[in-house]
Amino acid sequence: MTGMDARLQAIRNATRVASEDLRARALSIDADPDAMEAHLDSPVFALMREVGTPDAYRESHSASGELLKHGASCLENAVGTVELARGDAAVALACPSPALAGVIVDLLGTEKQQELFYTRLHGGRTWTFFAMTEPRHGSDATAMETRLERDGAGDWLLSGRKLYIGNGARGGIGVVFGRTGPSPLSIRAALIELPAAGWQGKRVDTIGLRGAYLSELSFDKVPVRSDMLLGQHLPATRRGMWGAIKTFNAMRVQVAGAAVGTALAMTEYVAEHHKNATGADLVLARAQAARELVFEAAARTDRDPERSYLSCVAKLGAARVAVQTARWASSALGPAGLLEHPLLEKWIRDSCGFEFMEGTGNIQRLHVSRGYQAGDASV
Ligand SMILES: Cc1cc2nc3c(=O)[nH]c(=O)nc-3n(C[C@H](O)[C@H](O)[C@H](O)COP(=O)(O)OP(=O)(O)OC[C@H]3O[C@@H](n4cnc5c(N)ncnc54)[C@H](O)[C@@H]3O)c2cc1C
Repeated sequence: MTGMDARLQAIRNATRVASEDLRARALSIDADPDAMEAHLDSPVFALMREVGTPDAYRESHSASGELLKHGASCLENAVGTVELARGDAAVALACPSPALAGVIVDLLGTEKQQELFYTRLHGGRTWTFFAMTEPRHGSDATAMETRLERDGAGDWLLSGRKLYIGNGARGGIGVVFGRTGPSPLSIRAALIELPAAGWQGKRVDTIGLRGAYLSELSFDKVPVRSDMLLGQHLPATRRGMWGAIKTFNAMRVQVAGAAVGTALAMTEYVAEHHKNATGADLVLARAQAARELVFEAAARTDRDPERSYLSCVAKLGAARVAVQTARWASSALGPAGLLEHPLLEKWIRDSCGFEFMEGTGNIQRLHVSRGYQAGDASV
């Protein structure tokens, strides 16, 4: 069992308080993910932006932000993520913050690119995006069709389509993956500022996690300056896909934490409204066990970031627990329960989304079996 030292407890307590603000906004953002203005000055959004930003580019330095500083360990982040998702995962995903794009900009960006990216986020009205998935290429990302072609004057033109891109159609600044040639090593990540000539974006109307603002984006010869390609200063093997894989390894446990936080929120909500709901103890124990697994996987990721075996196990388990908990919660409050409890009804809709983030269950199973065969289970 992963022990909660004083620092982890302080992180848990600070994020638990902040998560109440997320929850208060959940139904309103779910009803209209376009109406964000009323939420953008929320203290928890400022905190999430602060903790995702390196010291040099921070606008504020709060006591809670100091606890969960940029570059905090995977375990510290997982403790915070579970609590924030217990407030509401979809609202956390709606926050204009560095998020996934920040992870890859840190990994592959030059100082100048990092400065451009992080300073664009000042003021809390600019969203970020990480555009990898395409209409026919989700799990098999290396088969992506989006192209980066030379424009004949030393710069590039970006063409292609991306799908299910969180916050993409809101514009802002983010990373789009495209290929310069046929090999996986030719896949590059470009820093893109939107709107741009040749770009179109529209929100996909999803049932769950509506705050994530999943979007369809199209790029028709969008100009990309050569200094906007990430990883130019790095060897060819450590650019596009390498950065993406590192980003997924860092974020997988956090997605698992968000799934567990949602499962805990549903369990606790039902317990609060129905003291003797059938099966409540078992459902709570299962969610707590999934949380332990997430923390163990996070601690192991801190010790050995290259081995993803346990984080894949944790993601698989956490996504499944979220769905199992949702199925139980959908009948736990009686026949009219979901009509009377819209927040619970929303979390039930949200709970299916975790399966797809950072790799579907089947893809995690493939990683788990490869890790097991390589002996990672016993490390
Ligand atoms: C809430 C949410 C947020 C997201 N945010 C982003 C984002 O910000 N940026 C981004 O780029 N994408 C994002 N995505 C997209 C996500 O990464 C993809 O949905 C995911 O990679 C799966 O791709 P797909 O939907 O095309 O499904 P597919 O890859 O087509 O998979 C369909 C089914 O086939 C199975 N399958 C696929 N390949 C195999 C295989 N080799 N063996 C066995 N089974 C297989 C899958 O497990 C799945 O069940 C997001 C998705 C969600 C739900």
